[in-house]
Amino acid sequence: MIVQVLGCSGAIAAGCRTTSFLLDDDVLVDAGTGVGDLSLDALARIEHIVLSHSHLDHVVSIPLLADSVMRRRAEAHRPVEVHALPETLAALRQHVFNGVIWPDFTRLPCAERPVLRLVPFAIGDVLELRGKRIEVLTARHTVPAVGFAVDGGASGCWVFTGDTGPNPALWERLRGLKVAHLVIETAFSDDEHELASISQHLCPAALGRELEGLEGTVDVHITHIKPGESESVMQQIEALGLRHRVHALAAGQSIRLGDRSTESGRDAEKS
Ligand SMILES: [Zn+2]
Ligand SMILES: [Zn+2]
Repeated sequence: MIVQVLGCSGAIAAGCRTTSFLLDDDVLVDAGTGVGDLSLDALARIEHIVLSHSHLDHVVSIPLLADSVMRRRAEAHRPVEVHALPETLAALRQHVFNGVIWPDFTRLPCAERPVLRLVPFAIGDVLELRGKRIEVLTARHTVPAVGFAVDGGASGCWVFTGDTGPNPALWERLRGLKVAHLVIETAFSDDEHELASISQHLCPAALGRELEGLEGTVDVHITHIKPGESESVMQQIEALGLRHRVHALAAGQSIRLGDRSTESGRDAEKS
């Protein structure tokens, strides 16, 4: 399986796209602005979207994607399924697909055959989507939120924390899993540790405390850094002297699950 990084930034600027990962070519993990780099053909191949939480930087491309693929998906006779916590789906219904911000694409082009279907999950569920096993993990954020563990077979799983502050329950769960890659957020630098704490994100010092709970030596990929902050955040993380292999995640990277190689290079259109 290939995990393609479409976006991993905490906000937007030229070259900075917000959170989204594409598993092979048919399952999307979060739907930030990075989705907009996919061709129309690639967008139309997406069958499932799993969402970590309701914040705009993670869901903004769903309403736009629905509009883009509606005609092509009509031939497939299958809605794109959006999987999330019930609270996240309720937020999308109330605040996005409400006829004011955007039309209700769960009833378009017609109520019998909509382009989107909203499917609730619960923490601890294991979703089986297009041959991929995805476990829903806990996260601690200002709104109900989750992370995901994608099963990569014998080599171990790809884990995405989602947006989260300190979360002891996550490390407890991961002790029972073989983790090959951990994508973990560090949204703020240590200079803004109070902001990180209030908004339930991590800063490098908090990241260091969290990673004490991660066993072994793991490829750790830092995500959700604010534009312009990458250098200082990564320097502060480096100064921690962690035992893990720590990298800054970048849009355009692909992580291959099933062996240990990580490919770099702009490869956003795998069509
Ligand atoms: Zn958030
Ligand atoms: Zn976010």
